[in-house]
Amino acid sequence: MESNHKLLLHTCCAPCVLKCTEILQENNIDFVLYWFNPNIHPWTEYNSRKTNLIKLAKEQNIDYIVNDNYGLREFILKISPDFEFKKRCVECYKIRLENTVLYAKEYNYEYFSTSLLISPYQDHEFIKKTCEDLSQKYNIKFFYYDFRPYFREGQQKAREKNIYMQKYCGCIFSEEERYNKNKFKY
Ligand code: SF4
Repeated sequence: MESNHKLLLHTCCAPCVLKCTEILQENNIDFVLYWFNPNIHPWTEYNSRKTNLIKLAKEQNIDYIVNDNYGLREFILKISPDFEFKKRCVECYKIRLENTVLYAKEYNYEYFSTSLLISPYQDHEFIKKTCEDLSQKYNIKFFYYDFRPYFREGQQKAREKNIYMQKYCGCIFSEEERYNKNKFKY
């Protein structure tokens, strides 16, 4: 079945998605949100972020797709050679973005993109490069936009809307790095 929409936007979480969707709407870009995030641990945290994403999409009347194949075990196995900070993130981006591209190809979207491009805490250049590589590999257009200047505004709006704001990136390792400050000093 073909999608009538042009762009599939991989979504990491509701606070980041909020401003990305505003910008896409302002630019008259027809899009659908796509949830696939096996990197969010533990499952209760995954569920909170997913529930908030769905709530936001419904409130704003935006079409969304949830790939609820959590895939925790596959994710851990794939990143396990590089549990080290940064190196594991490279694989983490690839897993999520490649899944998005495969879905976009299957349903004939013209473009794909990701809300990860709004966060100043992510490796923006690597995310961009990963998307460009996937674009070439699967012959699908990558919609690049540097959303980062709008990150703070988006977070503020999310707080005002009472959207759940996570305290760490996603994986269980990032949770330890966030709270075990004696061990991890970046
Ligand atoms: S820190 Fe974030 S980007 Fe890096 S592996 Fe963990 S969830 Fe993925």
